[in-house]
Amino acid sequence: MAPQREWFEKDYYRILGVSDSATAKEIKSAYRKLSRQYHPDANSGDANAEERFKEISAAYDVIGDEARRKEYDEVRRLGPMAGGPGGMGGAGGPNNFRFDNLGDMLGGLFGRPRGGGGATTTARGTGPHRGQDLEAELHLDFEDAAQGLTTTLHLTSEAVCSTCHGSGAKPGTSPRQCAQCRGRGVLDENQGFFSFSTPCPACAGRGYTIDDPCPTCSGTGIEHRPREVKVRIPAGVEDGQRIRLRGRGGPGRNSGPPGDLYVTCRINPHDLFGRRGTDLTLTVPVTFPELALGTELAVPTLDGAPVRLRVPPGTRSGRTFRVKGRGVKSKKDTGDLLVTVEVAVPQKLTAAERKAVEALAAASDGTSPRAHLGV
Ligand SMILES: [Zn+2]
Ligand SMILES: [Zn+2]
Repeated sequence: MAPQREWFEKDYYRILGVSDSATAKEIKSAYRKLSRQYHPDANSGDANAEERFKEISAAYDVIGDEARRKEYDEVRRLGPMAGGPGGMGGAGGPNNFRFDNLGDMLGGLFGRPRGGGGATTTARGTGPHRGQDLEAELHLDFEDAAQGLTTTLHLTSEAVCSTCHGSGAKPGTSPRQCAQCRGRGVLDENQGFFSFSTPCPACAGRGYTIDDPCPTCSGTGIEHRPREVKVRIPAGVEDGQRIRLRGRGGPGRNSGPPGDLYVTCRINPHDLFGRRGTDLTLTVPVTFPELALGTELAVPTLDGAPVRLRVPPGTRSGRTFRVKGRGVKSKKDTGDLLVTVEVAVPQKLTAAERKAVEALAAASDGTSPRAHLGV
């Protein structure tokens, strides 16, 4: 992306609410927060939020990219080009920028067509624009998150128009290469020190013209519609983990690349098992005699037959046993099953039980487990 006139006019740092010395991580986190807040899905019909969302995306497009941010900082360091080439203090400067996008200046003149249905079809200026990054949430069953799965995500977003497949031309017709710019979308114009590329006025920077616009998208090639995206969820995905599907976001404009789709995984809890990374956790209730005398327990696993667990005599309540290799098998490693034994104290005793417990208490009189407290 070449420097754009917008860069002089917009303070992308202020838009994302970060300082111009913010780290890449700070910028990313500010962007995520704001884009969630102003996402069209969360603010349906709110034009201000939509505008703000576009602004946020545009800002992140530039300062969220290390190389582009460098260019942007450099452009801004030089200040606005008011006064034109003369304002640069003579020839010979190292920054002979080429402006490929004077969209703000010219975009309004050519009235880019708007799609129906309230779709977001106006782009920032003309020329290629990357599509929007989209956010989606996916609720997964505990087992599916552990084992991984391929599923279909349903979302409503900007998508390539299903009528014209993105060409913008009415079915049966095709876009024509623009005769004025020969498909380049820009016209070169030398103004002394600067070489400008201005968007071609004949085609508004698209490089082609459409005689009969597609009725669905009014010639933009983009419509707002429900669509399905296949998602491959890797085994061992964690609750809250964000998966990036490159190029599955909103379609680009004027041959720009598509945005990305970020899928946040939400994992439904399991009745029995918990997760700690790739380890599975399980609490097994046991009786006092089982711990005191030792026992062998049958323990369920998430992925197959129960395992036998030997509990030695004198095991304390709350001890955790590790069953190797019976946790979550992710690409990186295989977790263990962590079994915690816990004494279940009966809420009610039968007469016989009461007698036996009282006998036990009497027999162990004088050996208090609290002796060390000294009170
Ligand atoms: Zn169309
Ligand atoms: Zn043209």
